[in-house]
Amino acid sequence: VVRIEHLNKTFDGSTQVLRDVNLDVWPGEVVVVLGPSGSGKSTMLRCINLLEKPTAGHILIEDKEITGSAKTDVNKLRQNLGMVFQSFNLFPHLTAKQNVMIGQTKVLKKDKAEAAREAERQLEAVGLLDRADFKPAQLSGGQQQRVAIARAVAMHPDVLLFDEPTSALDPELVRGVLDVMRDLAENGGMTMIVVTHEMGFAREVADRVVFMEGGVVVEQGLPEKVFDHPENARTAEFLGSID
Ligand code: ATP
Ligand code: MG
Repeated sequence: VVRIEHLNKTFDGSTQVLRDVNLDVWPGEVVVVLGPSGSGKSTMLRCINLLEKPTAGHILIEDKEITGSAKTDVNKLRQNLGMVFQSFNLFPHLTAKQNVMIGQTKVLKKDKAEAAREAERQLEAVGLLDRADFKPAQLSGGQQQRVAIARAVAMHPDVLLFDEPTSALDPELVRGVLDVMRDLAENGGMTMIVVTHEMGFAREVADRVVFMEGGVVVEQGLPEKVFDHPENARTAEFLGSID
């Protein structure tokens, strides 16, 4: 469903941040991307939804090339790629429910009643129907992040991209967000690419773990293989430093 071929990204013509990254993600698959700070994880996600323009290589979504052509309709593309960031990026002046509705009405052109029903469904799915009329400032960080996930899911994207969705949260709020993500993976059948440092989540929920360093995919495989029998010395060192 997502195919990354020979992806390279260089900033300012000098710093090479991604080097020949190749990665295929299948429908319904959950891929967790691990790696030290600065290894290019966010840049890779940002290339997938064209927040960054790849310097070289190809990215295909549902067999359609999104790179290298001015013809790609970026808005259309982003409808198919939900993104959840470390900072929740909710509209502060809108309620939780309005935040989940706005993309549906403005981008998908759904009528208000339909968008409201979908927003209620998705808020219920993340356990926040009783907070529907609260504004972001009245919600905890974990609740805000669950609203952000509900908002992304309400667009029914083909793929959800997560960039460290729990790393800005107080520890006691992390679990609720991870539980929502686990539910999406296990019951929602969502295709997900998740950058996270949550090793428990990676081990239990990922179908595949990808380890990046220095802009290179150093190793990938089943979680039990990468965690318990890493082939690469750097992977082993990184995992050793975290667990
Ligand atoms: P972290 O775990 O800290 O989020 P990361 O793996 O997500 O790290 P990236 O944010 O992808 O890493 O950054 C990879 C490298 O690219 C870093 O060295 C960073 O300084 C550089 N970089 C990222 N964005 C830009 C930019 N807009 N201009 C120049 N360099 C950039
Ligand atoms: Mg990052």
